[in-house]
Amino acid sequence: MQFSELQLNKSILKVLEEERYHTPTLVQEKVIPLVLDKKDVIVGAQTGTGKTAAFALPIIHHLAKEDDVEKGAKKIKALIVSPTRELAIQIEENFKTYSKYTNLRTTAVYGGISTKPQKDVLTKGVDILIATPGRLIDLHKQGSIDLDLLNTFVLDEADLMLDMGFIQDVKRIEELCPRKKQTLLFSATMPDKVTQLAASMLYKPETVAIIPTETTANNIGQLLYYTPKKNKVDLCLHLLRNTIKGRIIIFRRTKFGVDKLEQTLLKNGYKVTSVHGDKSQVLRNEAIEDFKNNKVNILIATDVAARGIDISKVDAVINVDIPNVPETYVHRIGRTGRAGKSGIAFSFCSADETSYIKTIQEFMKRPIKIIEDHPFLLVKPKHKKQPNTISKNKKGRKSEASKKKKKRWY
Ligand code: AMP
Repeated sequence: MQFSELQLNKSILKVLEEERYHTPTLVQEKVIPLVLDKKDVIVGAQTGTGKTAAFALPIIHHLAKEDDVEKGAKKIKALIVSPTRELAIQIEENFKTYSKYTNLRTTAVYGGISTKPQKDVLTKGVDILIATPGRLIDLHKQGSIDLDLLNTFVLDEADLMLDMGFIQDVKRIEELCPRKKQTLLFSATMPDKVTQLAASMLYKPETVAIIPTETTANNIGQLLYYTPKKNKVDLCLHLLRNTIKGRIIIFRRTKFGVDKLEQTLLKNGYKVTSVHGDKSQVLRNEAIEDFKNNKVNILIATDVAARGIDISKVDAVINVDIPNVPETYVHRIGRTGRAGKSGIAFSFCSADETSYIKTIQEFMKRPIKIIEDHPFLLVKPKHKKQPNTISKNKKGRKSEASKKKKKRWY
């Protein structure tokens, strides 16, 4: 299928050509016609599938048409609510790019910085607003946001929104919008709480599901390194020196872990920056910009700070800690191999994380290739009896099966 078959207006097709988007991605092929048709839609798709354009392009198409005939001050007609500031900024950039040959105005509002410049932009009038929940409610209370003429409401990363405790805020925002509108809900995963929220907000929705494993499994190489916790930083340095090159995102579970690794890599001469929840918004934006502009080639991040961030041409992802939620693993490795490109993900698993890896492999329905040829291999812990402890047969010789078990006790 070609974009030209999707009935999008010429100003949009021109940008897509410039951006070298040759064909729509699967989620775009399925979602764009439904949004153009003004349907409510629930979409199960993670970042990296092209989902932002799947809602941005048809929204711009509709608004650009209305804009041609509209006179007077601009009013918010499309609202996109995003759980994180980084994602909000990224969606704003996407909208601005896709609508550059129209008169539409887009802005993003999010917490962590002063409200003044955001209020100034809103006063001048915008058509498309991207917002994090808290700042949106805040600015609405202060009279800077008027949603009375809204006709499209998009809830992005709904699962993360609920995980971050935004359920009441989302319901409150919904109440601020007119009853009659088009609602689109995007979520990387579809747990019951998301389905329930969708049932309470959407009218006769169509459902599109792009299964995450399809989008990650095929173009991302995945390698697993068993190693003791205390050797993880050394293994990271070893691989950076010998194996992993290019633009790299490293994930750590804790802010402390991010800071510690950043210090070590800096000391070893690497060009590195980091994002986590304790850093101010200005520093987080700066770090992402430095990484995007190639000032540094390594970004270390916690999950919440990095969720949804779209940085193209990431060559590798390193999971220094294994996430205990399989969906998080899928999100992390999805930072590389975006929009059909290939990528590689390295994961370091210590003895206490073996059950997480098991769950991740079950979730993805495929094993992750184990690499044993490295200097920091995890040896079997002595203190604990493992389920597949080496057994001896009657003659006291180890059986073939038990030899295999010794090699792969994990
Ligand atoms: P998203 O899932 O919205 O975060 O998009 C992931 C990346 O894919 C972004 O860098 C987009 O610019 C890019 N992208 C989106 N749609 C297409 C397309 N049809 N062809 C090529 N790249 C695309």
